[in-house]
Amino acid sequence: MKNQPLGGNEQPRFSGSGTFMRLPSSENISELDVAFLGIPMDIGTSWRSGTRFGPKQIRAESNMLRPYNMWTKAAPFDSLNCGDIGDIPINTFDLKDSVDRIGSFYDQLLLEEVIPMAMGGDHTLTLPILRSIKKKFGPVALLHIDAHADVNDHMFGEKIAHGTPFRRAYEEGLIKPDLVYQIGLRGTGYTAEDFNEARNWGFNVVQAEELWHKSLEPLADQIKNKIADHPVYITFDIDSLDPAYAPGTGTPEICGLTTPQAVGFIRGLKGLNIIGCDLVEVSPPYDQSGNTALTAANILYELLCVLPGVKER
Ligand code: MN
Ligand code: MN
Repeated sequence: MKNQPLGGNEQPRFSGSGTFMRLPSSENISELDVAFLGIPMDIGTSWRSGTRFGPKQIRAESNMLRPYNMWTKAAPFDSLNCGDIGDIPINTFDLKDSVDRIGSFYDQLLLEEVIPMAMGGDHTLTLPILRSIKKKFGPVALLHIDAHADVNDHMFGEKIAHGTPFRRAYEEGLIKPDLVYQIGLRGTGYTAEDFNEARNWGFNVVQAEELWHKSLEPLADQIKNKIADHPVYITFDIDSLDPAYAPGTGTPEICGLTTPQAVGFIRGLKGLNIIGCDLVEVSPPYDQSGNTALTAANILYELLCVLPGVKER
């Protein structure tokens, strides 16, 4: 019997453990196929902060999630042993040290055959994760769903911040540029180069305007054809969604993706060789209704449902 989320008929959903979906908290990573973890960090943010509270709030809202996907028929807990391994103890006084701590943690974690599902935290955290992933898998394909390209060379002179991880990842050879998809980019910038420079590196940039009023399932099909069975990492910045759906985030941009577009896109990714995911930039202090954290919990669940090995019933 694999780990199961605690059901609402066993313990009221407003109580019980504070783990993701009330899964068992796991110390023994070697028993897991999927490890949920928190990276409670906001010292890489440039505008509003608060993402240090993201993992706790995403876990709280995830208490309402039930195990079976009523549309896709995915039953992830039938085939994958899932657990919540807690939070990485970052150093909240030192961003660079925190990046190193995340890297060391992932180096250890990835000694096991486990798929990490991280709850952020600001987007800086994806850089050390990709560094660790490269050691195991080589340069990976990357699906980066975000309002922002996060390819600044620096922010206020700092090379490491939440707006720089994908330039660093490109420079360090952590990703395969022609297998990078940046989806949902929009808003105001400084020059056209803000998005075009990465296009010249080979990145596939899909601006939000190209997706307005459309299903993202054809895009998911295109991506599957291109990436095929190459290992792929998925990083989902909650600000890719329109602030009407996800207001609780640090750098909101209007005219974003809808929640049905995002969920349809993720469902369309079934079949990819996904080796890890993160969901970042949920800032509970700006999330008055709790909808942002609730949406984040559901997005993580939908990602879980398309991991390799998940069967339908
Ligand atoms: Mn981002
Ligand atoms: Mn963003």
